Amino acid sequence: MKPMNKASCQIFLLFFLVLVRFNSSAQNFTPEVSLFIKVNSASIALVDAKVIDGTGGPAKLHQTILINNGIITAVGNNTDVNVPAGAQVISCGGKTVIPGLVMVHEHLYYTEFLDGYFNVAQMASSFAKMYLAGGATTIRTAGSIEPQTDLAIQRMIGEGKLVGPEMDVTAPYIERPGFDIPALNNIKDSAEAARSVNFWADKGCTSFKMYMHALPEDLQAVVREAHKRGLKVTGHLNVITYREAANLGIDNLEHGFMPCSDFDSTKKVGQFSSLYSRALLNLPQNSEKMKDLIRLLIQKKVALTSTLPVFEPFTGREIILGGDTSVLVPPIRETVIARWQRAQNKDSASQVLFKKNMAWEKQFYDAGGLLLAGTDPTGSGRTLAGYGSRREIELLVEAGFTPVQAIKIATMNGAVYLGKNKTIGSIEKGKQADLVLLDGDLEKNIKNIRNTEIVFKKGVGFDSKMIFESVKGKVGLN
Ligand SMILES: [Zn+2]
Repeated sequence: MKPMNKASCQIFLLFFLVLVRFNSSAQNFTPEVSLFIKVNSASIALVDAKVIDGTGGPAKLHQTILINNGIITAVGNNTDVNVPAGAQVISCGGKTVIPGLVMVHEHLYYTEFLDGYFNVAQMASSFAKMYLAGGATTIRTAGSIEPQTDLAIQRMIGEGKLVGPEMDVTAPYIERPGFDIPALNNIKDSAEAARSVNFWADKGCTSFKMYMHALPEDLQAVVREAHKRGLKVTGHLNVITYREAANLGIDNLEHGFMPCSDFDSTKKVGQFSSLYSRALLNLPQNSEKMKDLIRLLIQKKVALTSTLPVFEPFTGREIILGGDTSVLVPPIRETVIARWQRAQNKDSASQVLFKKNMAWEKQFYDAGGLLLAGTDPTGSGRTLAGYGSRREIELLVEAGFTPVQAIKIATMNGAVYLGKNKTIGSIEKGKQADLVLLDGDLEKNIKNIRNTEIVFKKGVGFDSKMIFESVKGKVGLN
């Protein structure tokens, strides 16, 4: 080899520096965020883990995962993957690694009845943190009440100023007047719906959500404008049936089949159905009519979001799903506990419907539908960011999915829906190092999903327990 002269040496050095700079995805974090970071090395090796990789393939034991500058550079048997010199080694014997969760029915707000009305309060501080602590490295919000706050939180997380997941922000609800929920956005006509899509898309919102009183013509206008920009539309519907929505080009339907008004025979086109729940209760679990609807949704490529925690019955089940009540601010904690106590043994209809909806979601998945997972931290105040996200995975297993399927639904399927499956959603070479390290074997006991130790986002490891500890007594207030 020819020795370098001084000039080429300088060029080499410059080239080398550019390379180092280009390769380094080193993120800057404020001291407040750094407090929660447990692992932040350029080169990391997770050694001897059980890996459920998010693709739906079988779990593998004794795996080594290498991370370099935030990217997964190798995954394989311990015996096949060489740990590079200088890597920070994390022993994962007896532990499970899954991809970071991609949860798609999320909110940065908490709901509570005040003066007899459904009050919605932005959780500008606690919820983004709790999502990450619970293992969610990417979330899509599904309707916002303070879109400007959600967008600012998204930006500040990206700048390393706040702890939280990557966010796909949904614009304010697209809804016609009908509910006395003060925080809910209302439109007066379809033209306004179309304008609001473009207004919020210009501000950075990337998803849109139709709500229960929206009309078919509103959905048509929103789909037209959103699809022009390559953006997606979902809905928690009622006036619009699932069949109508699928035919109008909606991309996603929320809450499994719980809000589905298609089976209310008294419902008229363009009108609200107040008997939809009763109609679902009367519909047999193995109904041909439901199977027919499922076929249409799959044919029209409509994804379905499972949000089981928000429908979890009260009787014999946890007060705070997947967590404990100490996270709530004390006065709200008292009302949530009291409501849970009052509801014991009085929710038999909701128990029946809960089980049926589980079965229908499984039928949709088994028929080839794209089932997604969400938390929906609303309802009676028992479902919270992070805790409820992990609970969704437990409930998918209760619904009959294997742990491997449940993880795929909550990781890869969300990434596919968001069009991000080239970079996130599974543990594969070349993907972003979004990973969750859990203590215990997740296949042996799905409740080990609660044993979140470290959540890696782009290769930076956050201390889950420390984050949850930091929000104790605060949820409901901020
Ligand atoms: Zn919701």
